Amino acid sequence: MEFRFSTIASGSSGNCIYLGSEKTHLLIDAGISGKKVERGLQTIGIDPHELDGIFITHEHLDHIKGVGVLARRYGLPIYATRLTWNEMDRMNSVVGEIPKECKYVIEKNKEMVLNDIIIQSYGIPHDAVDPVAYNFYKNRKKVSIATDLGHINDTIEKNLDDSNLILLEANHDIDMLEVGSYPYFLKQRILSDRGHLCNEVAAQIITKLYHSKLEAVILGHLSRENNFPALAYQTVYNELMASNIELSSSFQLKVAEREGVTDVYHV
Ligand SMILES: [Zn+2]
Ligand SMILES: [Zn+2]
Repeated sequence: MEFRFSTIASGSSGNCIYLGSEKTHLLIDAGISGKKVERGLQTIGIDPHELDGIFITHEHLDHIKGVGVLARRYGLPIYATRLTWNEMDRMNSVVGEIPKECKYVIEKNKEMVLNDIIIQSYGIPHDAVDPVAYNFYKNRKKVSIATDLGHINDTIEKNLDDSNLILLEANHDIDMLEVGSYPYFLKQRILSDRGHLCNEVAAQIITKLYHSKLEAVILGHLSRENNFPALAYQTVYNELMASNIELSSSFQLKVAEREGVTDVYHV
């Protein structure tokens, strides 16, 4: 076992992912209150003082709401691209001050090493200033985290390839979104190629990427209004079945809880 993985919250109202090894404990985003992050970590047996850093995907509030509190409370290194930092600095009335010594700049497409984990980010299509997704490597294992994707392109496909565990966005069901109560401009935003990924496209890409070393796919960042867990699951399940890809104890499909901790996965 190289990695432990769990979602502490995953959805349009807040995202926070835990990924750790024996030596290293990371969060990806902290878009919920500091309290909720602490409670989530407690559930999976991690003391927040043990954290080694938070990797930020982009500056939307559902990804950074608790970052200021956690940085100040635990003196945590926060990693983001230069452009994302510029935006977060502008938002300090919402996020609160982040101490200078906690700010670390990452460069896309460049590997960085933190203790025993190699981290690599890459750009994704989404309506933020410089949004990224992440790959984490340890020995022969790879974990990929990719949410807030307007569409799938070759870069994303290449980056998700070969992963042992993927957290992928399944934000909405297109029909639910279209007939739902969201105002027109918001529907257009979500459906645009810099918006969010729908269940159907998530299903297609998982089926296309499937390989025998893929151990778990977790569907995340579900919309509260335009999706529900059973629908996201069924859409992906049907597509896998249509390609004769069976779920088993060595290949699991799960939906992350919007609020609260999902199971802990070991890869
Ligand atoms: Zn976003
Ligand atoms: Zn988001």
